[in-house]
Amino acid sequence: MAAGKLVVLSAPSGAGKTTIAREILKRISSLRFSVSATTRAMREGEREGHDYYFMTREEFAAGVKNGLFVEWEELFGNMYGTLKSEVEKALHGGDHLLFDVDVKGALSIKRQYPEALLVFIMPPSVEKLKERLAGRKTEDSETFRIRLERVPMELEQRKAFDRVVTNNTLDSAVTEVEAIVRHHLNNKE
Ligand code: ADP
Ligand code: 5GP
Repeated sequence: MAAGKLVVLSAPSGAGKTTIAREILKRISSLRFSVSATTRAMREGEREGHDYYFMTREEFAAGVKNGLFVEWEELFGNMYGTLKSEVEKALHGGDHLLFDVDVKGALSIKRQYPEALLVFIMPPSVEKLKERLAGRKTEDSETFRIRLERVPMELEQRKAFDRVVTNNTLDSAVTEVEAIVRHHLNNKE
């Protein structure tokens, strides 16, 4: 069986990558979502083992110690990490894997798996980004501020990505990402 391929979506918080990722997963059936581990609280509508594996800080630290992660980062006061088991399952099983990780995580995945495709989702403007993040109603004023603080660093890192897609209207962004991903997978389904 051919090895699965890796596709990484990354963007500043609120740019729309989770929304785009969900849509892409609906459209490309050979693509599976890489479920990360996190210590952040579960949001309304999220499910254990579907959106994340929700862990305590102690569980996460034990995972780091036991080498369970391909990469991990502390973001906005919480830990987030890509599990080796998710990646190995895909690489050996033949499923293609879609990652939704921060820019540092994306670059770290690329260092370890140079054949991974890195797609950066660009907000149309910082103003729109703020509007979307505020509209999502998941952040208190402090985490909203912390998420925005990282935006210049994140935008700077887009140069290291294989492709940059602006999420202006959702439909056209999804169509563009879908074409890029299908081309990478060489999958005409
Ligand atoms: P991220 O995963 O990058 O943090 P989300 O996918 O959660 O971002 O999107 C942030 C908010 O913006 C959500 O409420 C989502 O519905 C909204 N959104 C995403 N893309 C668009 C778009 N193209 N136009 C308007 N709103 C959008
Ligand atoms: P959220 O709390 O909004 O779900 O995610 C916050 C940030 O953490 C997003 O940029 C998301 O892509 C990133 N993230 C989620 N999982 C991982 C992971 O496993 N590793 C890294 N480095 N970032 C992650």
